[in-house]
Amino acid sequence: PSHIRFYNATIREAAEEKLHILNDLRHAQSLRQFSLVYQSVVDLESNDLVAVEALLRWQRNNGEMIEAHDFLPFLEETGSMVSVGQWVLEQACLQMVQWHKEFNSTLKISVNISASQLEHPDFISMVRDTLDRTQLPADALVIEVTESALIRRPALITKVLNQLKSMNISIAIDDFGAGLSSLSRLSSLPIDALKIDSGFAQALDSPQGQKLCKAVIQLAQTLDICFIVEGIENQHQRDTLPTIGKGMGQGFYFGKPVKAKTFSVKILTHAEQLSLASCNA
Ligand code: C2E
Ligand code: MG
Ligand code: MG
Repeated sequence: PSHIRFYNATIREAAEEKLHILNDLRHAQSLRQFSLVYQSVVDLESNDLVAVEALLRWQRNNGEMIEAHDFLPFLEETGSMVSVGQWVLEQACLQMVQWHKEFNSTLKISVNISASQLEHPDFISMVRDTLDRTQLPADALVIEVTESALIRRPALITKVLNQLKSMNISIAIDDFGAGLSSLSRLSSLPIDALKIDSGFAQALDSPQGQKLCKAVIQLAQTLDICFIVEGIENQHQRDTLPTIGKGMGQGFYFGKPVKAKTFSVKILTHAEQLSLASCNA
């Protein structure tokens, strides 16, 4: 019957598209098709800009700008995550050093690191070299690790996170609450911040969801870990959070991720307030 043919065609198209992407991706780094965009992390009490998250983008051969979640799995699959990730870290550090000089600021730069990067035997020395080369102070770097990255090889990851911590680098758990968090491990890892998954910000629209969000925020506060609520998109969500707890937020409400040049303007407008609010303040 025809629906089976249709099904086959869809599968074939998807497979062909995937092959195209994998093929294009192989050359993306040498063609300099990767770039970073930057998004603000804001103190919900003072409205200060406290950190900047770097996010990877890929401009494909056809000119289309592709967001990270649409090609990262393929980057992992082609085995290029480690080398692209190294480029990301270097790029993000260089950019932040430039902003520090330009605006006399103490902003932190937050960089996402995947499990395959963390597990790589040279990861720590790569980070150390990058900080040396770029001259970014280690305490201006935040490394974001998703919950799922903590689970694959727990002993190794614990060791790596402790090494980062001893270098004065901050550690944030990304998408917290979305995956299989091993809550019992939270207290034994050197975690500075929980980035609470955007699902919780969305849930703020209902009373039940607010309770859920409150519970997660209280968990962070009880453990003395600061929190950043991700995916804040509207005024209601933005205004509700300070009634629950003192922390930080990120999301389209404060601004979409933008190129470095555009972000500079944002820093400039925040410039007077920039001396403030490290995570632990
Ligand atoms: P993430 O680190 O949790 O980053 C937040 C993602 O949500 C970003 O998508 C961002 O564009 C999007 N976002 C921010 N605010 C809002 C909002 O208010 N509403 C909605 N709907 N979305 C929002 P993006 O850039 O596609 O990144 C997806 C994920 O890919 C990231 O999630 C991060 O885990 C990973 N990633 C991004 N860049 C890198 C990188 O350089 N290296 C590694 N290893 N992973 C990266
Ligand atoms: Mg992140
Ligand atoms: Mg996240």
